[in-house]
Amino acid sequence: MSEVTLDVKNFCVSYPGRDILTDVNFQLHRGEFVALIGANGAGKTTLLRAILGLIPAQSGCVSINGFTPRQARSAIGYVPQKHLFQWDFPITVTGAVMNGKAKTLGWLRRPTREDWLQVFTALERAELLHLKDRIIGELSGGQKQRVLLARALASDPALLLLDEPFTGVDAPTQASLNRLYRQLAKEGMTILMSTHDMLAAREECSRVLGIRGGLALDSPTDTLTLEGLHRFLHTHHERS
Ligand code: ATP
Repeated sequence: MSEVTLDVKNFCVSYPGRDILTDVNFQLHRGEFVALIGANGAGKTTLLRAILGLIPAQSGCVSINGFTPRQARSAIGYVPQKHLFQWDFPITVTGAVMNGKAKTLGWLRRPTREDWLQVFTALERAELLHLKDRIIGELSGGQKQRVLLARALASDPALLLLDEPFTGVDAPTQASLNRLYRQLAKEGMTILMSTHDMLAAREECSRVLGIRGGLALDSPTDTLTLEGLHRFLHTHHERS
């Protein structure tokens, strides 16, 4: 078996008065591209943010290449839901991507030649070089999604977390982004993508994790039908 990038063990997360994730256990191996599904409010974003160390767990642990989320921060690329980013900030595409790096490297350090190289490599991979001097607020939905991806890629992460990356993205851009995610996975990046798009989950990913209270589904995509995925999504879990 190939090396484990992400190991989630006996993981429980609650908000005051409510258990969201109960005893979640799974591993992602190097180079896997895995979909995370679940109904609205099931806890997908909560799980992604807890893997990043932004939400504390009540119990259990997460390790990324053997390190805690805090130790592994620069090894995790996070693409949040598009509407959560501050698009009205007057900054260019290049500036937004460099800012994303500064967040993990520390604001006080001046960017080195290596940092710039990584930023431009990320812009190129996300097909944004022709838009590098544009103000981010002027971009289309698909272009904004690419900016968030380039920000995440600029630190060359081992683990990429994508939260609903197809919302407000047209079909050709979605297809092009999916090709890029598959290529990144082929090169060894491990990708966990939360999505409501069951077709993308089945067609693009090798495995699907389903959240309903805890982890209620962990299956290779070739054993899953679209109907089965929809049934999972629309079966409600009564919380106690
Ligand atoms: P969606 O598909 O709608 O994005 P999700 O599966 O990503 O949903 P989460 O955003 O993880 O779900 O939210 C899980 C549950 O936790 C929801 O019921 C939400 O209302 C609740 N929740 C999220 N953040 C908080 C918070 N900071 N405090 C209290 N409850 C919260």
